[in-house]
Amino acid sequence: MAEKVSELGKMTKEHWGAMQDQLSSSVGENNYKTWIAPIDFERIEAGGVAVFTVPTNFFGTYVSQHYGDLLLAKLSLIDSEVSRLKFQVANVDARPRPAAQAAPAQAPAQAQVATPQAELLPSAPLDTRFTFDRFVVGKPNELAHAAAKRVAEGGQVTFNPLFLYGGVGLGKTHLMHAIAHDLKNNRPDLNVLYLSAEQFMYRFVQALRERRMMDFKELFRSVDVLMVDDVQFIAGKDSTQEEFFHTFNALVDQNKQIIISADRAPDEIKDLENRIRSRLQSGLVVDLHPTDYELRLGILQSKVMTYREQYPSLQIDDGILEFLAHRISTNVRVLEGALTRLFAFASLVGQPITMELTQDCLADVLRASDRKISIEEIQRKVAEHYHIRLSDLIGPKRVRNFARPRQVAMYLCKQLTARSLPEIGRRFGGRDHTTVMHGVKRIEELRIKDSQIADDIELLRRALEA
Ligand code: ADP
Ligand code: MG
Repeated sequence: MAEKVSELGKMTKEHWGAMQDQLSSSVGENNYKTWIAPIDFERIEAGGVAVFTVPTNFFGTYVSQHYGDLLLAKLSLIDSEVSRLKFQVANVDARPRPAAQAAPAQAPAQAQVATPQAELLPSAPLDTRFTFDRFVVGKPNELAHAAAKRVAEGGQVTFNPLFLYGGVGLGKTHLMHAIAHDLKNNRPDLNVLYLSAEQFMYRFVQALRERRMMDFKELFRSVDVLMVDDVQFIAGKDSTQEEFFHTFNALVDQNKQIIISADRAPDEIKDLENRIRSRLQSGLVVDLHPTDYELRLGILQSKVMTYREQYPSLQIDDGILEFLAHRISTNVRVLEGALTRLFAFASLVGQPITMELTQDCLADVLRASDRKISIEEIQRKVAEHYHIRLSDLIGPKRVRNFARPRQVAMYLCKQLTARSLPEIGRRFGGRDHTTVMHGVKRIEELRIKDSQIADDIELLRRALEA
C-alpha cells in the first residue's frame, strides 16, 4: 500500500517546504506563522488526496476553510492529480473521524470556502492602554492588583480560578487585559484566551448551530490561560452555563489558569447554578472596592501626565484635579471621560484650565454626580462630630471651640456642594463671603500641617458621602 501511494504522488516534503516559503508572501507573516508553518505534508493518497498533519482538528478546519483553495492551486502545479486536501492531527492515524471533522477532510476544499466560519477564533482584541503601567494602585484595588500581578507572571498556578469582582468602571477589564499583555511577554509559549462571557456564549451558540461542538470543545480545552470577563452575563442562560462549567472543569483538571471577572461576588449572582457558584468560589475571590479620593486623584494625575504629551502647552490650575476627585466619585470611566473632555475643550478654546472653565465644560457631569449633600447635612454632621450644638456652629460666638468646627463645616460646604461662597455665608448666620473664603483657606492650610484636622475632614467626608 505504501509503495503504491508513493508512486502516485510526485509531491515530496521538500516540495512542501518550498511551497510554504511561497505561501508566506501570499498570506502574510502572521498568518504564515500561525497557520502555515505548523502544517506538515505527509503523502498523496489514492484519488488525489493530499494528506497533511496539523496540531488540532480545529486547526485543520480553519486552514481548510481559509487556505484550502490556495493550497489546492499551488499543489496542482506540482501534481496535477491532487484534487482534495485532508488534514489529520499529528500522532493520530488516519482513522475514521466523527462527523464534525469529516467534512473538511473529505469534501473538496471549494465546497467549504463557501461558508465563512472564522468566528470560532482566538482572543478578543486587547486594549493596548490597559497595562499594569497605567493602572494606578490604591487601597481599594491593591489586593486585586497584587493577585493579577501574580497570575501575570505565568508561574505555577496557585489559586484557581482568580475571581475579580467589583462595580462598573473600577478596572476589572483593565486588569484582565494587563494580565494578558504581561503573559504574552513573560510566557509567549502559553496559549492565552481572553473573551467576554457574552462572546463565549456567542461562540458556543454558533458552534451548536454549525454542528462544530467538537471544534469548540477542542479550542477551549487547548488553552493554557482562560480569561472570561463579565461572567454574570451567563446567569440564567442554562446551556451556556453548562458548557462553561465543563470547560472550566476540564481546564482546572489540567491545572490551567482561569481568570474570571464579574460585577458582583459569586454568591450574589442570581440564576447561577450552585455547582458553578461553588467552583467560582474555590480559588481566590478578590474585589475592587469603590474608589476613594486618593485613588481618584492618583488616576487623574497619571492621566494628566499622559495628556501632557498630547497638549504640552496646556495650563491647569491648582486644585482642579482635587475638585474633580471630590466631585466625581461614581466610577473611573466617568472620571476619565471628564478629564478628556476638559483637556480637549481647553485646547480647542486655547485657554488654561481654570475652575470656571471646568465648571462650565463639565456642568452636566458635575450635576449628574452631584451627591446632593446639603449644607444642613454638613452642619449637622460637623456639630455632631465636635460635640457642639448646631446653634453654636452657626451662631455668632467666636470662641475657638466653635470657630474651628465652623471653618471645617464651611470648607466641607465648599468642597462637597456646588454652593457659592455668598450662599454658604448666608447659611452660616448671614456671614460675609470673605469670612467663608478665609475659613476655607485656613482649613486648607491646617489640613497639611495638622493631622488631626486632616483626619477629621476625611472622616466627615466619608460619612457625608456614604
Ligand atoms: P470595569 O471592567 O471594571 O467596568 P474598566 O477596566 O473598563 O472597568 O475601567 C474603566 C476605565 O477606567 C478604563 O479606561 C480603565 O483604564 C480606567 N481605570 C479603572 N481603574 C483604573 C486604575 N486603577 N488606574 C487607571 N485607570 C483605571
Ligand atoms: Mg469590564
